[in-house]
Amino acid sequence: MTEQTVGLLLKNKLTHNDLVTLLNAQGELRKALFSKAAEIKKEYLGNKVYFRGLIEYSNICSKNCYYCGVRRGNHKVERYQLADIEVLDAARFALDNHFASIVIQSGERSDQKFVDTIEKLLLKIKAMSNGRLGITLSLGEQSEQTYERWFKAGAHRYLLRIETSDRDLYSKLHPNDSIHDFDARIESLNSLRKVGYQVGSGVMIGLPFQSPESLANDLLFLKKIDIDMAGMGPFIEHKETPLYRYAGELLSRQERFELSLKMVALLRILMKNINIAATTAMQTIDPQGREKSIMVGSNVIMPNLTPLKYRENYKLYEDKPCIDEEAEQCRSCLEARIHIAGNEIGWDEWGDSKHFMQRTTNPNN
Ligand code: SAH
Ligand code: SF4
Repeated sequence: MTEQTVGLLLKNKLTHNDLVTLLNAQGELRKALFSKAAEIKKEYLGNKVYFRGLIEYSNICSKNCYYCGVRRGNHKVERYQLADIEVLDAARFALDNHFASIVIQSGERSDQKFVDTIEKLLLKIKAMSNGRLGITLSLGEQSEQTYERWFKAGAHRYLLRIETSDRDLYSKLHPNDSIHDFDARIESLNSLRKVGYQVGSGVMIGLPFQSPESLANDLLFLKKIDIDMAGMGPFIEHKETPLYRYAGELLSRQERFELSLKMVALLRILMKNINIAATTAMQTIDPQGREKSIMVGSNVIMPNLTPLKYRENYKLYEDKPCIDEEAEQCRSCLEARIHIAGNEIGWDEWGDSKHFMQRTTNPNN
């Protein structure tokens, strides 16, 4: 390795240029990047990985994002919404299996009925688990009042990806109307922070028109808004979406996967004590994708607990894995995989973001 490249990873503050160089890293520099990220994770967070049982609540969505398979305009999808009892059963499974936390994710709706239903569900889950189950939501953009109601009902973490921090690229990925507005998305992230959630965000990697320069900006953006948690993964084309027309111009899936690993490693270096998820989209491209992600900095994994019969219909992208695997099977196979990756599972621990704890207990940090 040249002295110049060694120097790069020893720097206290990585510049935009450095990040671009590292996103393009090959050979020794690439290896050094991954081991530095692993070292930082070990130093700041130990070798624990936390589970969040993922419940894909509904694929009914009022939005029309150009990349997503459950967008309103895709009429080939059979729409569903879980019954309360199905959510409670999945939550019970998480509790009984020592997952300690769940994530409720869904297509975006902000009508009163939906807001009320989620609030009631949260209260029921809290009551069923005697407050022992941590709840993360991923239900899109909502008003501050809605975020507040759900927070009071028991949710304490929220995932809302910015998708890309590049405003122009954002407008190429979404219809240009008031419900797909970049500034509104930022506003939602601000509201979540204000209400008191641990705030998660992230981007898709390998989108059409996206450059390494743009991804480097994404990393700096996530650092600037000071997220507590991150979820990032490769963009995976879906036939029934407008972006599919660019399928032939994308980076190969392997290249998108490689870039995603580098994004995880770089974010770990930039934000040492946040939670970073090893996402399902990474596993879609590489069967060992999540383990590889854990080895370069991720510390959260989200096993799917959605009842099997609905999974086929919650395809945000194609080739989603585990659509025919029972949760129980998932659990044992994951446990083995995590051990292989040299990590332990934080059974029965919420595994909240250390970054959040530090910021809230010492605001000068
Ligand atoms: N409706 C909510 C939550 C569900 S979508 C929301 O949009 O926030 C969750 C995430 O899936 C999105 O943030 C997006 O980053 C990801 N996603 C959607 N389509 C995808 C695709 N084709 N490839 C990879 N990720 C995708
Ligand atoms: Fe709906 Fe989320 Fe998909 Fe956009 S990404 S269409 S908001 S489910």
